[in-house]
Amino acid sequence: MFDIFNFRFVSHFVLRFSNFVSKNSQYTLVIIGLAMISLIFLREITLLPDGKLHLYVLDVGQGDSMLMVTPSGKQILIDGGPNLSTLSHLDRLLPFFDRTIEMIVLTHPDSDHITALPEVLKRYTIDHIVMTGVGHSSGRYDALLSEIQRRSIPVIYPDPSVDIVTGDGVLIDVLWPPALTPTLSQGERENLSSNNQSIVLRALYKNTSILLTGDIEEDAEQAILASGADIRSDILKVPHHGSRTSSSTGFLLAVDPYLGLISVGSDNRYGHPHTEISDRYLNMDIPIKTTASNGVISLEFD
Ligand SMILES: [Zn+2]
Repeated sequence: MFDIFNFRFVSHFVLRFSNFVSKNSQYTLVIIGLAMISLIFLREITLLPDGKLHLYVLDVGQGDSMLMVTPSGKQILIDGGPNLSTLSHLDRLLPFFDRTIEMIVLTHPDSDHITALPEVLKRYTIDHIVMTGVGHSSGRYDALLSEIQRRSIPVIYPDPSVDIVTGDGVLIDVLWPPALTPTLSQGERENLSSNNQSIVLRALYKNTSILLTGDIEEDAEQAILASGADIRSDILKVPHHGSRTSSSTGFLLAVDPYLGLISVGSDNRYGHPHTEISDRYLNMDIPIKTTASNGVISLEFD
């Protein structure tokens, strides 16, 4: 026999229980939401300007991409790697609401340095781009040039007689390549290999100096030495991924770094860094860190 009382009791119990679960689901959702907001807030706090200079050698595989963040939080992206992984690094390292990158440097347009840059230009506002304007035939380079034109991004052509200042204590000394002059035409400069036309910069902040070398090889190293420029630096981004074409002994003696950083993919087809170059650094008591072994290399300078 069907007991109406029990049916009402059970219905009432089921209804109360449903409400309880429903309310607690809402509480759970609220708690999860608050936790996520707190995590985002904490993340944003850690990314706020902290008065230090930061250098991140991004782990992009066999290529170069580095992010420098100045003491007031300005970002300088040097190169765009061999793939699109620079984009996910930028997602992680830039504050959520910061959609401006103050400066991009394309050291040279080889595919292992340029690939993510056209997409970076689509996603962020770029204040300036530093590049040589060297002639180069590739789809990514064409895409970059058309994005620069479409967005009217001011291009700075490197000139060793003109420093770049960020306005918050960081000075970027342009070392290479030589500026175009009436006696040095674009055609003559392009007699240099693509690697040897890489932009070389020395960033200075307080007592710290960082030398960024792109893929220069021994010819450019010797020319920079011959220019008499001050290249002594605490940190050296090892030229050309530790290739035997670069890191000549005289150059290393003049730079005299206490740390060398190599951006390189594990088991890459070039065998970078070459064993004799790794040995040269070790014999000169210069420790090296590679992205293949360390992942993203993160340094900060106070
Ligand atoms: Zn390279």
